[in-house]
Amino acid sequence: MKIGVLALQGAFREHLSALQDCGAEAFPVRKTVQLEGLQGLVIPGGESTAIGQLMVQYGFDRALPALAADGVPVYGTCAGLILLAREVIGEAALRPDGSSGQYRLGLMDIVAHRNAYGRQRESFEAELDIPVLGATPFRGVFIRAPYVVSGGPGVEVLARHEDRIVMARQGQYLVTAFHPELTGDRRIHEYFLRLAADRADKGLAKRGSSRL
Ligand code: GLN
Repeated sequence: MKIGVLALQGAFREHLSALQDCGAEAFPVRKTVQLEGLQGLVIPGGESTAIGQLMVQYGFDRALPALAADGVPVYGTCAGLILLAREVIGEAALRPDGSSGQYRLGLMDIVAHRNAYGRQRESFEAELDIPVLGATPFRGVFIRAPYVVSGGPGVEVLARHEDRIVMARQGQYLVTAFHPELTGDRRIHEYFLRLAADRADKGLAKRGSSRL
């Protein structure tokens, strides 16, 4: 499996090692040409404003929707979740062109609340029940995390923390509000790789194919 990790800013190195631990051929993506031939892409955590600005600067604002239109699975962690969301609420940032509103790809039909956890709980860890990963709870590391306020009809909620949606999937898109790459538990990376393998098997990751 050839998986790229967007490496403009943020916690991309940890995703690379996690994916490599799972046997994937994972490498950092800094230029749009490196998207060629990918079977999956991870948008890491970091600062969504900074990542968004760099995305526009390096042409990913056009290249990533094109990759997604080919059916390639995309997994967004934390800031990556915000960048994938159709709508972002909470502390908004300016777009690179100075207009208001957080820059985002808007590929997934979710509303994200940015910096949703107040000061006291800016960073915390919690055991999460994630049925698609089996019975063993998953340790969620939340760092100035967003959460998913709501999702459209195609969005499957995979985990909640205190009633808030913290993991969701819509077809080829997967998001977590927390950082699995910072734990030794590789089940979420394995889950994403299975998704990518499925798409590749079905030939949906080829140019010109339709989306789920
Ligand atoms: N608070 C960050 C943002 O809004 C996300 C934090 C993270 O990715 N750990 O972009």
